[in-house]
Amino acid sequence: SAFLSVRGISKTYIAANGSKVVALDDVDLDVAEGEIVALIGPSGCGKSTLLRMVAGLDADFGGELAWTVEPRPGKDIGFVFQEPALLPWRTVRRNVSLGLEAQGDKSPKGRERVGELLDLVGLTDFAGSFPKELSGGMRQRAAIARALAYDPRILLMDEPFGALDAITRDRLHDDLLRIWATTRKTIILVTHSVEEATYLADKVAVMTARPGRIKAVHEVPLDRD
Ligand code: ADP
Ligand code: ADP
Repeated sequence: SAFLSVRGISKTYIAANGSKVVALDDVDLDVAEGEIVALIGPSGCGKSTLLRMVAGLDADFGGELAWTVEPRPGKDIGFVFQEPALLPWRTVRRNVSLGLEAQGDKSPKGRERVGELLDLVGLTDFAGSFPKELSGGMRQRAAIARALAYDPRILLMDEPFGALDAITRDRLHDDLLRIWATTRKTIILVTHSVEEATYLADKVAVMTARPGRIKAVHEVPLDRD
């Protein structure tokens, strides 16, 4: 069975004026362990809504999410957003260690893990720098390291490269594939870019809006090994 099976997920929001918005209508998706799955589609097709369901941030929906191992909320789910949202008064190292500290982990092993993550995302030399001293791409790499700090079972990325210039974005694509090659994390990535989806993902789910549906799932064979 799949690592995550999304079965018949439907979600209706009640807008402020009382009207109903069907954000997701009967969505099915299988995610295998270690797979990178891209969700692609126009604005409003329910990509962020689907990520929030998977993240356990909204339990008010129809249908079923079946996991081989149920993730613990927060801890087992890594999130990367379009804006890296680093804490400006903390160094890169202390942004990455935030999750571990929140769990009370100030152990040498925890510190060692932060060092490994900084190395993984190529920020070892900037461990003591503050977010404002970094480029946009470096900030996003720091956000990826922070999301991996808990060693999550799945990494959810909501247009993580959408705010970057084209050259930085291309570089980050390769960085992400390198990070994947080391961590083998299961990743669900929301994007507007067909190019990004087909470059990064093993599987591309194409969504349509009003109501939000998956209209096709394409397998993209990639030889990463
Ligand atoms: P996407 O991420 O693909 O742009 P969203 O998941 O954000 O799509 O939104 C899907 C649909 O649900 C859109 O029509 C959006 O306007 C609507 N929607 C999202 N969040 C809310 C909300 N909290 N209240 C009402 N409607 C919402
Ligand atoms: P700690 O280092 O104690 O775990 P933080 O990293 O959150 O906690 O805060 C570090 C320092 O930054 C503290 O002195 C705190 O008062 C200060 N601080 C907290 N919030 C803000 C903020 N929004 N802007 C600037 N400084 C802040």
